[in-house]
Amino acid sequence: SPSQLLGVGVDAQAPESHALLERRKKSFAKPQKNYYADPPQIERGWREHLFDVNGRAYLDMVNNVTILGHGNPRLAEAVGRQWAMLNTNSRFHYAAVAEFSDRLASLAPEGLDTVFLVNSGSEAVDLALRLAWAHSGHRNILSLLEAYHGWTVASDAVSTSLADNPRALETRPDWVHPVLSPNTYRGKHRGEDATDGYVQAVIDKIAEIENAGGQLGGFIAESVYGNAGGIPLPPGYLQEVYKLVRERGGLCIADEVQVGYGRLGHHFWGFEQQGVVPDIITVAKGMGNGHPLGAVITRREIADSLEKEGYFFSSSGGSPVSCVVGMTVLDIMRDEKLQLNARDTGDHLKARLEALGQRFPIVGAVHGMGLYLGLEFVRDRETLEPATEETSAICDRLLDLGVIMQPTGDHLNVLKIKPPLCLGKESADFFADMLEKVLSDGW
Ligand code: PMP
Repeated sequence: SPSQLLGVGVDAQAPESHALLERRKKSFAKPQKNYYADPPQIERGWREHLFDVNGRAYLDMVNNVTILGHGNPRLAEAVGRQWAMLNTNSRFHYAAVAEFSDRLASLAPEGLDTVFLVNSGSEAVDLALRLAWAHSGHRNILSLLEAYHGWTVASDAVSTSLADNPRALETRPDWVHPVLSPNTYRGKHRGEDATDGYVQAVIDKIAEIENAGGQLGGFIAESVYGNAGGIPLPPGYLQEVYKLVRERGGLCIADEVQVGYGRLGHHFWGFEQQGVVPDIITVAKGMGNGHPLGAVITRREIADSLEKEGYFFSSSGGSPVSCVVGMTVLDIMRDEKLQLNARDTGDHLKARLEALGQRFPIVGAVHGMGLYLGLEFVRDRETLEPATEETSAICDRLLDLGVIMQPTGDHLNVLKIKPPLCLGKESADFFADMLEKVLSDGW
């Protein structure tokens, strides 16, 4: 059993989780609005399963960081060995950095052969912005409204999600220029002409910058509309926008922190879906399976522009342990064929969810692909009025049935399904069965 493998037993005197939640509030974290009122206190995990302090099992459907699954002994063993041998922020552990960087570059499109290792997605986005500024010589950045790119100062500035931060537009620095997000489900432009409408919004924004005497430095976007549950961008959108940006000397940043690294199943990178090659890729989350690890992948001449500007260095980014984590994650992904599993299990799950959509009018749409799916709940399929309270109640019921799932999206009416990529078909069916039960009972 997982407990035997991990060598842990159930704690008989487990503290009450709501008491711990109260204590946690003192830890200076902003409590998320989509917490359960009485969340389980998770103690350990095994593959796609989590266990609370009372030994109760849950299916983890929202973990887009731990892509291998929880409690992977092969990863634990490799990390332990490296910790015992060397983990230092010395700049002289070239071998591990070189080997891991080579492997990352080999996964990226040709020409993107230069890698800088950091500790998180937010840091990767900050560095990507600095690269765009240094290489283009201009600070103006286009970003998408309702996107999320991180919480450090610069990555937060390009995160203009009003749901995450209602003051985002007032407090954003003047180098950030948000444009309409290409949400083809509930955005301003839907259907056939959506691409043109959203591209026109970019053309207008660029004109606004240029009319004010400015020049464009770059464009940052996820290659799938992530915040709303993985809605594909309208066909040709990124091709058009990348062209407009590059014509002006700006750089195109693909934020692959969430959607890249095999999660989409059918593609390793999200931008492949749009047939584009970015100038800068940011990656994190799954590449470390939860260990702090992120990277920026770019072209040599772009990296050179920033290096010319002077010194930058991350004390723990690219440590020997981080590199071993990164390489072992890639080994396990390859050996366990996780991207293939994301594709096949994801297709299977999507078909099951679509079948629920036929029966229950509250299911407005099933977005996404691979193991990055979004189930959007609406009160009315015509007006698309978001079923926000209902989504929260559905999540509470799912928790009772042993499924961890939280509402997301700007209206908190989307179940963003992003389990570990090792999700078994039985687990996918269990999730669909439980959802079916909840919807049959209540909606
Ligand atoms: N970019 C995207 C698209 C993300 O989803 C996230 C995290 N949710 C980040 C950047 C920031 O990553 P991190 O939390 O590792 O700093």
